[in-house]
Amino acid sequence: MADRYANFANSGLGRTVVKRLGLPDPPRLRRHNPGDPITDGPVLLGAAPGGRLSEPIHKLLEGAGAEVAEPGARPEGVRHAALIFDATGIGDSAQLRALFDFFHPYARSLKVSGRVIVLGTPPEATAGPKEATAQRSLEGLTRSIGKEFGRGVTSQLVYVAPGGEAAVESTLRFLLSGRSAYVSGQVIRVGAGSPPEPADWERPLEGKLALVTGAARGIGAAIARTLARDGADVIALDVPAAGDALAGVANETRGRALQLDLTAADAAARLAGYLAAGPRGGVDIVVHNAGITRDRTIARMDADRWDAVLGVNLTAPERVNDVLLERDLIPSGGRIIGVASIAGIAGNRGQTNYGTSKAGVIGLVQSHAPLLTGRGITINAVAPGFIETAMTAKMPVGLREAGRRLNSMSQGGLPIDVAETIAWFASPGSATITGNVVRVCGQSLLGA
Ligand code: NAD
Repeated sequence: MADRYANFANSGLGRTVVKRLGLPDPPRLRRHNPGDPITDGPVLLGAAPGGRLSEPIHKLLEGAGAEVAEPGARPEGVRHAALIFDATGIGDSAQLRALFDFFHPYARSLKVSGRVIVLGTPPEATAGPKEATAQRSLEGLTRSIGKEFGRGVTSQLVYVAPGGEAAVESTLRFLLSGRSAYVSGQVIRVGAGSPPEPADWERPLEGKLALVTGAARGIGAAIARTLARDGADVIALDVPAAGDALAGVANETRGRALQLDLTAADAAARLAGYLAAGPRGGVDIVVHNAGITRDRTIARMDADRWDAVLGVNLTAPERVNDVLLERDLIPSGGRIIGVASIAGIAGNRGQTNYGTSKAGVIGLVQSHAPLLTGRGITINAVAPGFIETAMTAKMPVGLREAGRRLNSMSQGGLPIDVAETIAWFASPGSATITGNVVRVCGQSLLGA
């Protein structure tokens, strides 16, 4: 369903009307095209005294071809693509003033779809309560900037564990580029370690085999295409009834189609058998995207609706994970990625079944992350907000418009936005990112 309002607001007449009436003003978001540079303009890099990240990040950005400027130059007239601030030197609340001193003079210097990134130390990894308190404060700044700057600007907090200085490149590349167009107000945790650097950052998944469930259409089809674009061989899985569309996606991605209903009693075992017999004797990247809604208030819901939603959205990924892990079909370097929803974080009227299942996906990620670290496997999830798909096209018009407008981008996201976030989790460079749930919701005002 086309977003007619956004098209109108971006037309000549529309721009005037929107401005005069103070209506939501959805900007055209910058999205990634293969071959795009890491940023579309200079990056201003600042730091609180004693920070441990600005030096490695300066090197990293220059190595990646970005133009890096330091605060001090007169801000007038310069248009920055990104403002990055290393806040790891902030050891107590008095030192938070460094944030104001950096952002105040440059707040108006960002381009449309500009980026704000604050780097901190995870509060639980700090030296004591004063530093932990100050580092925790950073989240209020980045989330507020996301709501304040508008014009497609995104704002994130990245907590980098001590020893994670060399592990932050995949995340910075994702956040600076148009790949993260619809991700804002997020807190990302990068763990310690030194992941391998891909030979080609445009095709980091070369040589990897990925399984995408629910890949016949919508977000799943976009995930299959994006992982294939990034170099992966893709197995696209969906129900037999979606066979034609599934074959289309498999052809397009030069991958394989697997028709399977994930709620069948033997589904996980059949999938495991299929993967074990395949060319790699397993699978590197598993994306649990298949999902359904069967909305009713709980008072009006029948048990079938409850069971169907829990079965597809939560029990199926749980069973598949269990079997693949038991049979050692996901090697070290593997990735498991769930698709939750903001309904699983904030809840939603008429979606007790769906909200339960999607909060369960978050639980699955958080409970498995520490268990899988020793095996070299990461597990993370995306939590999409309002994404333009067949699922949201079916919504009543009032709710649909609210979903589209009530976020920092004043528009719905696209399936590619969810897919890009999954590709970042899947990247070998993201080896120390685990247990994260990142919302792809344009910083939705609905819910948390
Ligand atoms: P969609 O309905 O367009 O696609 C879902 C796919 O999953 C379909 O192709 C369907 O056939 C497949 N599927 C369903 N049951 C299956 C089963 N038993 N076995 C195998 N495949 C099965 O949905 P979408 O909008 O693309 O959503 C994809 C995922 O994103 C879902 O998990 C959904 O809950 C989640 N999500 C979507 C939005 C949104 O705004 N569209 C928001 C939050 C979360």
